[in-house]
Amino acid sequence: MGFASDMCQAITSLNALGLSANQVGKTERIFVAKNEERFLVFINPKIISQTGAEIATEGCLSFPGLFGEIERSTKVVVSAISLQGKEIKITVRDLLARAVQHEIDHLDGILFIDRADKKERKRMLSEWKELRRL
Ligand SMILES: [Zn+2]
Repeated sequence: MGFASDMCQAITSLNALGLSANQVGKTERIFVAKNEERFLVFINPKIISQTGAEIATEGCLSFPGLFGEIERSTKVVVSAISLQGKEIKITVRDLLARAVQHEIDHLDGILFIDRADKKERKRMLSEWKELRRL
């Protein structure tokens, strides 16, 4: 699929961990993630279960330069359709689990800022205002 490979190229050149279709103006429910040197393409992804919790620094290609402390599950089971059209079920952990939750949120119209606690959200919003002024 040309579109998915374009997205993989984009995250490589942007040095990102993931990208969702709606960040690049597409309505397909697709995201790509990079796990070490491998690309994973998720079509119509759905979180089946999530466990654990960890707060860590997170950024987003849609908010260049903005970072925030966001709590995410550390282990997530996701179902999706692969590029080959097969139903897959994959367990992801830690950083990749964080990226997967971040990208599925994008597909659901939820931004990482929305996942921050109240105080952090406020800080991020004011920092974003500053960044946009530069
Ligand atoms: Zn993002």
